[in-house]
This record gives sequence, structure tokens and C-alpha cells, in this order.
Amino acid sequence: MSEVVMDKSQATITELTTIGQLIDGEMIIDGERSQPIFNPSTGKSEKNIDLASVATVEAAITSAQAAFPAWRNTAPIKRARVMFKFKELLEQNAEKICELIGQEHGKISHDAMGELQRGIENVEYACGAPELLKGEFSKNVGPSIDSWSEFQPLGVVTGITPFNFPVMVPCWMFPMAIVCGNTFILKPSERDPSATLFIAQLLQDAGLPKGVLNVINGDKTAVNTLLTDKRVQAVSFVGSTPIAEYIYSTAAANGKRCQALGGAKNHAIIMPDADMDNAVNQLVGAAFGSSGERCMALSVAVAVGDTAGDLLVEKMTIAMQDLKVGPYSNPKNDFGPVITKAHQEKVNAYIDSAEKDGATIVVDGRNPEVVGYEDGFYVGGTLIDNVTTDMLSYRDEIFGPVLQVIRVNTMQEAMALIDAHEYGNGTCIFTRDGEAARYFSDHIQVGMVGINVPLPVPVAYHSFGGWKRSLFGDLHAYGPDGVRFYTKRKTITQRWPSTSLRENVEFAMPTLK
Ligand code: NAD
Repeated sequence: MSEVVMDKSQATITELTTIGQLIDGEMIIDGERSQPIFNPSTGKSEKNIDLASVATVEAAITSAQAAFPAWRNTAPIKRARVMFKFKELLEQNAEKICELIGQEHGKISHDAMGELQRGIENVEYACGAPELLKGEFSKNVGPSIDSWSEFQPLGVVTGITPFNFPVMVPCWMFPMAIVCGNTFILKPSERDPSATLFIAQLLQDAGLPKGVLNVINGDKTAVNTLLTDKRVQAVSFVGSTPIAEYIYSTAAANGKRCQALGGAKNHAIIMPDADMDNAVNQLVGAAFGSSGERCMALSVAVAVGDTAGDLLVEKMTIAMQDLKVGPYSNPKNDFGPVITKAHQEKVNAYIDSAEKDGATIVVDGRNPEVVGYEDGFYVGGTLIDNVTTDMLSYRDEIFGPVLQVIRVNTMQEAMALIDAHEYGNGTCIFTRDGEAARYFSDHIQVGMVGINVPLPVPVAYHSFGGWKRSLFGDLHAYGPDGVRFYTKRKTITQRWPSTSLRENVEFAMPTLK
């Protein structure tokens, strides 16, 4: 039996010890099943998450469906005004949001602030809805005939998000879906749900009508209910590739539009002419920032030619001496723990396997000493040299602070190796040669490419998405593709015939002669 625990006038999420559901503007505890949420910096659990039952998810869908007709008919400028207010509230509550991200994800405040800022930029883009939804108009496509295309909302849509960006990735989805006139059900990661629930509450405070955004916390029971309920029209997913593939095929089999973004293995090519000091600085941040738990993290450096490999490893080793891993609460740390004990063990096991397969562990981050936080889920920055493409540590996504170095003779070899990998999310080339960079960006089989830019995450007014098994579906996330994903095109052809222009019966396909 669900129980209402608070309304928006009461205590905020920052004070809750059980993270529940936001349905129809009210915080509900389902009460059937729950599991602990850990603070990865300490390894302790201070909160629980309520795992939604089928009935609770169905209640959220009912709420979203009931809210749809009025929201669909609300003027886009009024929908955008709620987002303008939401942006203000996000900025005013930035510290609280980053604290919640830190407590449950382990991200250091500078990194959490960057995540929040990227999320806010998606809200800013969504504020342009009246312009984005203007449609297309053609006058006189035939005698006294005008034609236009408009972009109508889909209805109830859902988003299922990963642990590594509890604020930014939800902001890729619900602001745009909502300003387009849809109602939304968000299913955040069960590992760090508080920051997500908190921003959803801020959107209520910004004036969003009840039921337009519902948040369901839960596991695969919740996800499967969303994927199979006929009232849900579309699914946005971001997470690991096996789950992305499952979500895409299940959603499609149930007649839903779907975009499912998956995992990654992002390579950086280091050309012989690269500014090596700059490349090393960029690589350190892009490989180890956020403990390597970014889908755009650079996890493989491909050194081209006779000398680049040795120089890269030498300079990386020196740069990594200063890396500081530790709790989220100390802003002097460069990165925090990984998300769970199980994930810490998994990352360590990949380093073990690389060693067993004959690679060289140049800097070993297994079991780092973090004084006072001995139970935290820490892995230090790790550099592995002489990696080959047959190794498990190379083939799989590790999702930890581990950079592997592969050495090749030519740029063509480096590109062939990237193209052969199952993932195609991001990649980067470090070079001073414009011709090589242009060839690389034109031909590489990867969705997001950097030229001397290590994390080429598109800004909010472009769209984000990988190729190959990094994305199932057609449209990328947010930006212009986001508008297309959350709307369906309707094309209307109109004539108001005057009595003097009455037409004869015509059986031929209408054309303009
Ligand atoms: P995950 O796939 O384990 O979980 C993602 C979501 O799916 C969560 O909400 C989770 O509750 C749900 N889920 C998990 N198992 C499920 C199941 N069996 N059935 C139904 N739902 C299930 O991913 P994660 O560990 O939270 O996030 C890390 C992964 O996400 C990495 O692989 C990373 O590369 C990827 N990622 C990709 C992008 C991108 O844009 N391509 C962005 C961020 C993260």
C-alpha cells in the first residue's frame, strides 16, 4: 500500500532517508521492496531507495496520461516559462545539488558543478521551444492551396538514466520532452537517485502542473512495466550496451519509438607531431576525471610511430604522480571513488587480467591508500602499456580510472583498430597536421570526434550520440534531434474553395501542371 510521505511544502529531499516516488506532485513510498544507497566515499549506507511496484508505475502512467491533454494545449511560451524558472532554481540550489551528487555518486564538487552546468545548458535550449516548434509553411503549393508541417507531442514518454550523470543525463531528456508538450516519467539510476529527485521537485516548484513529470525509482520491474504499457509512446535510454540493446528491442516490439544510448571505448590517437605536453595534460583529465566513469572518457591512447609511445608513457607517468583520489567532500581531490564495491572489484579484475595477458602495469591504482576512508570504493589512476587488441581489458568497457596504451606504426593502422571496435561513441586525435585531422574526422566510424579536444561532448544546441553499438535507434539525444525525437510531424494541406472554383471529379494523382 503506498503512503504519501510529504508534499512540496514540507521537508526537502536532502533530509529524506528513504528515497521514494514522485507521482502526481506528491512523494510516495511504495513500501514493498527497498535496497540500500551507498556513499561510495565512505562505503557506508545512510539511505534506502524504495523500489516501485508494477502498481506504482501504472499509477505514474495514469497520472502522466491525465495531465497530457491540458499540457499539450498549453501555449509553448507558457511551457518555456516554467523552464526559465526551473533554470533559475537549479542555479540557486547548485551547492545542494552537487552535495547530493557527491554523497551518492562520489564526484568531487568541481566535477559535479560541471555536470550541473551541462544540464542547465539543456534547460536553456529547451527554453527556446516556441522557436523550435514553429514548424514549416508553404504557401500556394497548388491553386489556393497552402501546406504546413507541425510538430505535435507524442503523449506519455519515458526516460531511463544511468548512475554516472544523475543530473545531466535526465536534463538531456525531460526538459525538451516537456516543452514539446509531452508528459514524462523518469526512471533514474537506483544507485544515486537523490539529486535527480531533488531537481524534479525543483521543477514542481517552478510551476509545472502535477503529473507532467513523475519520477519512478526502481529496478527492472519498473523498467519492464514502462516498456510494455501501451500508454507509453516513447523511450529514451542511456546506460550500458547490453541493457540498451534489451531496451531498444523490447520497446520496438511493443510499438514504441526508442533511442537507447550505450557504452563506449574511446580512443585517442597520438600522432608523432602532437604537442605531447598538451596531449598528456588533456589525457590525464579525460581518462581519470570522474574516476573514468564517463561514457566519453578516453580509455585507450593509440601512439603512432617509433617514438610517440615511449614519450607518452614517460610523460604520463610523471603527470600521474600528482593525481589525488579521495572522498568527494575534499575539493582538492582530482577524482573520487567508483560507484560500488562490486564495480571496484570489477575494475581491479580488468587490471589483473591485462597483467595476466602480458601487458605492462606502469602505474598501478589497485587498492590505493585513502587515509580515514578505508572502506570507500577507491581505484587510483592506472596506466597500462603494451596492450593488444585481443586482450579482454581492451575489448570491454572498464568504466574506471584506467588508461591503456597501444602502439601502432601508422595513422591508418590506428584508425582501422578504432573502426574494428564494437563501440563508436567518442574519439580524438592529437596532431598539428590539419590534413591528417581532416582525413580522420571525415572517415572514422565514430559519432563524436575531437581534434585536439579530448572530450568532444556536443553542446546543448547540437546533439549527442555514438555509432555502432554505442547507440540503438536513429536520433541522437538532445539538441535538434531531441526536438524531433519528442514530436511527431503532421503535414496539413488546406484549401478554402470559392464557389467559382468548384472542381470536377479527378481520378489521376494530383499534380501541378
Ligand atoms: P546500466 O545499464 O546498468 O543502468 C542504466 C539504467 O538501466 C538504470 O536506470 C538501471 O536501473 C536500468 N537497468 C539496469 N539493469 C536493467 C535490467 N536488467 N532491466 C531493465 N533496466 C535495467 O548503466 P549504469 O551502470 O547505470 O551506467 C553506466 C553505463 O552507462 C556505462 O556503460 C556508460 O558507458 C553508459 N553511459 C552511456 C552514455 C551515452 O551517452 N552513450 C552516457 C552515460 C553513461
